[in-house]
Amino acid sequence: MQVSEWGRRIGFLKKSLERCVLCPQMCCVDRTIDGKGFCRLGGGMVVNSALPHHGEEPPLSGRRGAGTIFFSSCNLKCVYCQNHQISHSPAGRPVSEEELAGIMLELQEMGCHNIEPVTPTPHLPGIMAALRIARERGLRLPLVFNCGGYEREKILRLVEGMVDIYLPDFKYGFVEAGRELSGASDYPRHALSALKEMVRQVGDTLEIEDGVARRGILVRHLVLPGMTDSSLAVLRAIREAVSPSVPLSLMAQYTPTPAVLGHPLLGRRVSRREYERVVNAAVEMGFEELYTQEVDERALTPDFARERPFNWEES
Ligand code: SF4
Repeated sequence: MQVSEWGRRIGFLKKSLERCVLCPQMCCVDRTIDGKGFCRLGGGMVVNSALPHHGEEPPLSGRRGAGTIFFSSCNLKCVYCQNHQISHSPAGRPVSEEELAGIMLELQEMGCHNIEPVTPTPHLPGIMAALRIARERGLRLPLVFNCGGYEREKILRLVEGMVDIYLPDFKYGFVEAGRELSGASDYPRHALSALKEMVRQVGDTLEIEDGVARRGILVRHLVLPGMTDSSLAVLRAIREAVSPSVPLSLMAQYTPTPAVLGHPLLGRRVSRREYERVVNAAVEMGFEELYTQEVDERALTPDFARERPFNWEES
């Protein structure tokens, strides 16, 4: 992409902060003044932590880790969020575009296989500006767009050519679940149109070289307890509207947080039987590339109050 075109798109993204419609929440608030939208973020970027992450799917973590950058807050508010300490709060370390570019280059220096902003959407103007600076200074790693799937097709078109790997969630097959559990209206429709756009940009497979992902897409679905019908609706939607070639990561790691311990469905871990129902359905529907997990009884919730949030052995 020409530098002038990249600059034009970043300019458009920055301008959109004045009446923010970066995601389907469509808050239409002026974030350059304050953080009155759903995500409660102002115009600047806020980072919680940046570190090599070894707990992603094998082609993303590789041997030396994914270069994760955890941004504060989110455009969804999942009541069970495993990262709720950071995703439900706009607090964190404000960073400039220059500083974020430096963080990206540091992660490259540490040997990470990619740069993976987590929940990038509300911070998108700054992330894309930082990426441009980092590319000019020698960043060679692929950019992984790790998002909750609640995206606007029109905004995704603006990052075409800047994103190498899309890593979206597809959380729910039913509208009610998205509204009640994540504060998202019409989640399945938005997730599906976003997924189609992502596939248009990068294809419906994940290209892997020497065990490490270089380009493409990987769709994540967290199997929730008591909600396998929603999971099956997700699988059907992807197969029918997109392609069974899309690689899927079916996750069994759901762990109830204190906020949902009394919830009628979400207060327990997913059972082996529920998880296998979803995996078997994916196989029967013809999905060709599946990443699966063991159903594990241990608590696997990261703790962002610790220096190493994902080091389970320290629990
Ligand atoms: S990014 Fe934040 S303010 Fe903008 S539309 Fe989404 S939730 Fe609302």
